[in-house]
Amino acid sequence: MTTAVLNASSMLTEFAAAIATGEIEVVDLTHTLDPDFPVIILPPEFGQCARFRMEEISAYDHRGPGWKWYNFTCCEHTGTHFDAPIHWVSGRDLPNNAVDTIPPEHFVGPVCVIDCSEGSKTDDDFELTPDIILAWERQHGQIPEDSWVFMRTDWSKRSGAEYLNMRKDGQHSPGPTPEAMRLLVDDRNIRGFGTETVGTDAGQAMHYSPPMPAHYYLHGAGRYGLQCMRNLDLLPPTGAILFSAPLKIKQGTGSPLRVLALVPKEAANG
Ligand code: MN
Repeated sequence: MTTAVLNASSMLTEFAAAIATGEIEVVDLTHTLDPDFPVIILPPEFGQCARFRMEEISAYDHRGPGWKWYNFTCCEHTGTHFDAPIHWVSGRDLPNNAVDTIPPEHFVGPVCVIDCSEGSKTDDDFELTPDIILAWERQHGQIPEDSWVFMRTDWSKRSGAEYLNMRKDGQHSPGPTPEAMRLLVDDRNIRGFGTETVGTDAGQAMHYSPPMPAHYYLHGAGRYGLQCMRNLDLLPPTGAILFSAPLKIKQGTGSPLRVLALVPKEAANG
């Protein structure tokens, strides 16, 4: 065995021990899949995303005396979920662009968290701009290449109608500007972008040029999205490692998933 192999195996042993002792905390960034959890609503001329539904097959009864189980149905984009490049027209022809063909090592990696919770408290349409990203970098260092970047808004503390925040002109929720997405994707070369809101884009992002810039730029460059997350307020600005593996749906455009962050105990927020 080479030294590198010995080092990697002792790292994994230490890693397991640190999880067991709580030196590394596992923070769950996932909402419970529940029929009441809101899904995105598109204008009525378009197809719609289905909510999560559960149907009991048996419950230790005449339909199956010794076991309980359910059938469930939902959209690929229901609840806390992953967006693959094939989800957007800008990423439709890229190689390895679906959830079943993305290299699995892309599902484990570092995450930077930009706190936009103060601004989002008073402005439902709060924008993540290049100025905010550059100010974050002056404090925490440049966003490392191939990192996830999360926009914390505390939006996950909302529920019911407050979550989608639908008005006559559509949804109102915070998100990134086109310029912010170009900085993150083209200049910082991030792996993906994640939010607490129903999508990676702002509620009113159809009015940007291009419309839905997070989807357009991320997926056009083969990068990923995560949305409907919670507990971003428990993450440090840097130093956490994300585990975010979607279901292996053949040519799937996304999927609900369990998103876990590993956080060194001394760095845990809150
Ligand atoms: Mn989605």
